[in-house]
Amino acid sequence: PLVLGIETSCDETGVGIVRGYDLLADAVASSVDQHARFGGVVPEVASRAHLEAMVPTVHRALADAGVALTDVDAIAVTAGPGLAGALLVGVAAAKAYALALGKPLYGVNHLAAHVAVDTLEHGPLPEPAIAMLVSGGHSSLLMVDDLTGDVEALGATIDDAAGEAFDKVARVLGLPFPGGPPIDKAAREGDPAAIAFPRGLTGPRDFAEHRFDYSFSGLKTAVARWVETRQRNGEPVPVADVAASFQEAVADVLTAKAIDACQQRGVETLLIGGGVAANSRLRSLAADRCEKAGIQLRVPRPKLCTDNGAMVAALGSRLVAAGVAPSPLDLPADSSLPVTEVVMA
Ligand code: ATP
Ligand code: MG
Ligand code: FE
Repeated sequence: PLVLGIETSCDETGVGIVRGYDLLADAVASSVDQHARFGGVVPEVASRAHLEAMVPTVHRALADAGVALTDVDAIAVTAGPGLAGALLVGVAAAKAYALALGKPLYGVNHLAAHVAVDTLEHGPLPEPAIAMLVSGGHSSLLMVDDLTGDVEALGATIDDAAGEAFDKVARVLGLPFPGGPPIDKAAREGDPAAIAFPRGLTGPRDFAEHRFDYSFSGLKTAVARWVETRQRNGEPVPVADVAASFQEAVADVLTAKAIDACQQRGVETLLIGGGVAANSRLRSLAADRCEKAGIQLRVPRPKLCTDNGAMVAALGSRLVAAGVAPSPLDLPADSSLPVTEVVMA
């Protein structure tokens, strides 16, 4: 079956088209440039941009895939979590297409879609798997027993998301938004051991209560203080060393906890997704540590890690294949949809 997926949970208007495990189109229009001067995504600006980009992006995806709208067998859309107004634009569009075409509609979970997208690149997901999702809005460890219906949250950030920390640290260093790519680039020239930044929630007392949780707000503050002290003393800020040391702290904690979760649960597959999964150090450290631990690592290519429509179509495709019942046509958007709800009933 041919599945069209729509994603509008944050600042990307994504439309993907998938047949089985095959990716036929992945059209993305981002409003990221419109948010750059605010240093973060502005919900109202994002909603308006989705409204303008929605229909052209659908048409672009259809043209890229070489299919007609009437060829589509099912529509999938991100129903949550995400920005309420942004989600509504995608959900309204998906309902309109489903109703007009007389085809089933699946309102799906954005986090589960970040996991599902990997099947387009690496085929069926070995289950159970642990998934680590790290983006501007999320940092979560998930236990995936069944991608089409049994996903459990093991832990999450208790403050900032990993991508948010990249964005805030970039600001402190005078690098542009979004901060992930410029920090990644600057870090290549720096020494990751130059500055010992804190590793949040890794102390012996955190083990009992926050073993699989993350915290990046203390790290962000530590970086800001370190830079301010330099500036106050009239000393130059070694941007590359700060970037590399900060990035090392994030990659270290993320991978250590993900591997701990795999070992504690006896799981042999780790999947990493979300925009921060594009980070070169996170990818290389995860590869090293997984190899040592005998864990199979799956990371989609960077373009599939950031928000897109292909991930939604990929999850829709799995749901159709598993015979899961579609969502009602009056399904709501839920900005705080829990990950245990893979598809909206
Ligand atoms: P959501 O959290 O709802 O998925 P989002 O738009 O924040 O929404 P993505 O588009 O998946 O999520 O990811 C964007 C985030 O990823 C930004 O915070 C950005 O800084 C970060 N990012 C992108 N590339 C890199 C990189 N190479 N290294 C580190 N972080 C990166
Ligand atoms: Mg984004
Ligand atoms: Fe996302």
